[in-house]
Amino acid sequence: MLLNIHDLNVTELQTKLNELNEPGYRANQIFKGLYSSRWKKFDDFTTLPKELRAKLENVFQIWSLKQVDFIKSELDETTKFLWQLQDGKRIESVIIYEGNRVTFCISSQVGCALDCKFCATGKMGIIRDLTPGEIVEQVLVMSEQSKLPPTNIVFMGMGEPMLNYDAVMHAAGIFSDPEGMCFSRKKITISTSGIIKHIYRMADEDQPYSLAISLNSVNQPVREKIMPVSKKYPIQDLLIAAKYYTDKTQRRVTFEYVLIKGINDSEDDAKELIRLTRGIPCKINVIPCNSDDPLYQAPNWDQVEKFDQLVNQSHRTITIRNRKGWEIKAACGQLYAENESPIRKRKISV
Ligand code: SAH
Ligand code: SF4
Repeated sequence: MLLNIHDLNVTELQTKLNELNEPGYRANQIFKGLYSSRWKKFDDFTTLPKELRAKLENVFQIWSLKQVDFIKSELDETTKFLWQLQDGKRIESVIIYEGNRVTFCISSQVGCALDCKFCATGKMGIIRDLTPGEIVEQVLVMSEQSKLPPTNIVFMGMGEPMLNYDAVMHAAGIFSDPEGMCFSRKKITISTSGIIKHIYRMADEDQPYSLAISLNSVNQPVREKIMPVSKKYPIQDLLIAAKYYTDKTQRRVTFEYVLIKGINDSEDDAKELIRLTRGIPCKINVIPCNSDDPLYQAPNWDQVEKFDQLVNQSHRTITIRNRKGWEIKAACGQLYAENESPIRKRKISV
């Protein structure tokens, strides 16, 4: 079976080229060809000798994602893509246009193991992790199809990026490599439901990407109910990890807060959110819940604004994320791809 060339970083490419008795410097040329020139077949690599191109053809494939479908919102041009991976599994990713911002929302796993009750991806269970190449290719293909180049890349599509940490960091490294896609590190956001051990890892490894933590409730029993992962990683510990991250990196963290009617939208919730996040340099991003499930509905707009105002009074930076793409099921928490094989509700160790 051919290797996916997008799965390799420059160092790994060098090793592979050495195995093929080729000089390591060719790796940089190949890397540039793939990510700077965005060549899509080995014939395009005119910087390489013909014999090497033929050798590469025998070892690598250059493309693994197949676009199965795409749908564009008539309201706001949000575009959702459905991809088929080589083993037939399917994932989605989204482009969101907002003023000058063009956000690519990408997936890190096929499905998700964490079963947050308000999230469509959680209903899929976990099928498998994506490889670095499958993550990178989402951005490569969407860049071609987008009206404008991305200003932001967010790991807020399907899956929990911290549970596919190595592949996610590998892909983010390719996005931000000056010889690669040369994308600003601060504009790459890793969003986590709160896998604490990897928040510490990200801080200690000095990974310079933005971190978003999906807090979603400030009440431990409620959070456990809607986000079972919270049993293993309680709110108090999560906030300590967030503070550690901000101290270590000197960066703000973003707390995502999916606002759900009757569950986490009360005045007391807003006050507790203010109290718990005191002392942590942060932004708070409120996302009115997008769900078909009658148990997990967004509050009415007045309630959303009231919550916003309460938090705002505490001088926290708070934004309300609008629901772009909701009518094509492309908004936060709505990504769900039908997969032919039965879904494995695999028990995982988080
Ligand atoms: N697994 C990661 C990243 C993917 S989810 C995480 O949970 O952070 C991306 C964002 O969508 C998270 O902030 C999550 O809380 C939010 N989300 C999930 N379901 C949602 C829904 N039904 N409505 C609005 N936001 C939702
Ligand atoms: Fe997984 Fe994030 Fe959805 Fe929770 S919100 S099920 S962690 S994708």
